Amino acid sequence: MSDTTMKRFRVSANKAVDLDDWSTNDTLGWDKESAKEELVDVIDQMAFLQHRLMAEADQSLLIVLQGRDASGKDGLVRHVMTGMNPAGVRVVSFKVPAGVEKQHDYLWRCHAAVPARGVVGVWNRSHYEDIVVPRVKRLVPEEVWRARYRHVRDFERMLVDEGTTILKFYLHVSHEVQRQRLQKRIDNPESSWKHDPSDISDRKMWSSFQTAYEDVLRETSRPHAPWYVIPADVKWVRDLAVAKIVLEALVLMDPRLPAPQDDLKGVTVI
Ligand code: AMP
Ligand code: MG
Repeated sequence: MSDTTMKRFRVSANKAVDLDDWSTNDTLGWDKESAKEELVDVIDQMAFLQHRLMAEADQSLLIVLQGRDASGKDGLVRHVMTGMNPAGVRVVSFKVPAGVEKQHDYLWRCHAAVPARGVVGVWNRSHYEDIVVPRVKRLVPEEVWRARYRHVRDFERMLVDEGTTILKFYLHVSHEVQRQRLQKRIDNPESSWKHDPSDISDRKMWSSFQTAYEDVLRETSRPHAPWYVIPADVKWVRDLAVAKIVLEALVLMDPRLPAPQDDLKGVTVI
């Protein structure tokens, strides 16, 4: 299988990133109907390989989802990740650290959430919040958040060395589409419960968040733990692009069914 989808969205290591140069609404030459059909097929193939990953119980896959409020992290989990066997998927949503989390270093809760062998872990937000939010909101001195680039690079390197494949997705949504989605969320009684006043205050700091994300992408995209910037204004593009990259990663992981525990030749169940 070619790795074209992977290459197209991947952020090169150490290269300056200007998110304004990355499209939020590219449809990549796909059309909605065939993209939806292709997604069904891609999810089928993902599920097939995930079954092998669980059986093999040796490697794990960690999918990190970052992006602004309403960039579609929850929608992606619902539309793409639910195609896999839930017995082998662990979705973790990281919120503002509270209680015991605040009594530990910031990676403590993340390490505990790393998927076990055979499991696909999906992080809805992640340790990257611990760089971006404290920086933008000036919660800690610069040397504290800046040192975290190195911590997360080393942490991810260790996870990869120990058998985890890491994919990191930045769902790239435009200022205008975020506005529309937040407004729709407020106006619809089925979703207004989701509204968080911090969505509005964070939106006011749009450009500071953008700079912080650009630096994260440059500092922490590495060949072994790459970032992908996914155009996220169009939901079906977002879903198919991410699904294809996840599938490509699973193909490269090449999980194998274990050999039967016994010589089964001539074994009859009576
Ligand atoms: P949501 O994902 O919309 O449910 O919101 C979760 C909120 O928690 C977002 O505003 C995140 O920025 C915030 N959050 C998550 N992790 C952290 C963190 N480590 N430090 C600060 N804020 C965080
Ligand atoms: Mg929110």
